[in-house]
Amino acid sequence: MSNTTLILLGAGSSSRFKTTVKKQWLYTQESPLWLHVVEHFESSAAFEKIIIVSTFDEIKEMKKFADYIYVQGGNSRQASLTNALKHVTSESVLVSDIARCCIPSEMIERILAAQSKASCIVPTLPVTDTLYLEGQPIDREKTRIIQTPQLSRTALLKKALQTQTLFSDDSSAIASLGAKIHFVEGSTKAHKLTTLEDLQKVTCLKAPSTKTLTGFGIDTHPFETGKKMFLCGVPIDANYGFKAHSDGDVAIHSLIDALLGAAGMGDIGDLYPDTDDKYAGADSKVLLRDTVNRINSFGFSIGNIDMTIMAESPKLSPYKQEMRESLSSLLGIRGNFINIKASTSEELGFIGRKEGVTVHTVANLTYTNWKTL
Ligand code: MG
Repeated sequence: MSNTTLILLGAGSSSRFKTTVKKQWLYTQESPLWLHVVEHFESSAAFEKIIIVSTFDEIKEMKKFADYIYVQGGNSRQASLTNALKHVTSESVLVSDIARCCIPSEMIERILAAQSKASCIVPTLPVTDTLYLEGQPIDREKTRIIQTPQLSRTALLKKALQTQTLFSDDSSAIASLGAKIHFVEGSTKAHKLTTLEDLQKVTCLKAPSTKTLTGFGIDTHPFETGKKMFLCGVPIDANYGFKAHSDGDVAIHSLIDALLGAAGMGDIGDLYPDTDDKYAGADSKVLLRDTVNRINSFGFSIGNIDMTIMAESPKLSPYKQEMRESLSSLLGIRGNFINIKASTSEELGFIGRKEGVTVHTVANLTYTNWKTL
């Protein structure tokens, strides 16, 4: 039985990674980066427990992939680590950053094999460039680049972090207690993904799968007099609008459900509950933009949309082009990828009796190809 717990830190906002997608949700084949990293650790060594630190929103999605221990992060790396350490009971703890996504198995093995040598085992790299400190060259043989993962005695690390001092890594926290640090050889392959340019350096990652993910959405709203009608964000000239908690844009609601369906992210009611006063009279365009941002940040790109609006009245054909333009701007995709069909129900049922409208939408997503970002 292993006496080591693995903690993977991934609660950062990816703010220096200037794309719509969060770096931990870049896909390599059919796995998001964070899952690729944790599975690689699992295949390299045995751990008593595996703890993944992320944000509230991301943990909700991560749980759908695999059953690990998920812990919400704090405002800093240290706060996140402190939260995770509350769940650690093993003698040692190996802490790594999810963004360091191509750590060779041999490097992980080297660190674990040195466990008995000190209170903290740290992989390092030699400095190959000339270094200056305050205008003077210094002996680079005396310097080291520090990497993660680092293996620490759990009790010591917990104790070292009970301070207001912010440490940049675990070894400096352990060293502050005067405990022994042991260096092992790191690897240039264990590069940390911080900026978009770093994607060229993480050569272990394969391109995402080209699979298409399909989602279907359907929504119905009854007419209500005295309300303004909106469909696909376009004002429609009618004497009535839709009865709804929000602005009642039934077309956007079905589209949101189709997008969430394809992304495996639940439905519109999960994200924007109509029991929440915040969404009373909500502009559905705002909800759609939020959905698109969410889908993009979790690694998906929108392929195409096909929508059928079933309405006996009002006549919608004159609005189709305007609706396409509105959705094109909201979705960030070209108009040729958006198809809008207006249909009737041949006077049958509630649609035929002109009591309301039903909209069906199919959406296709692909994994964002970060190789071309
Ligand atoms: Mg609705």
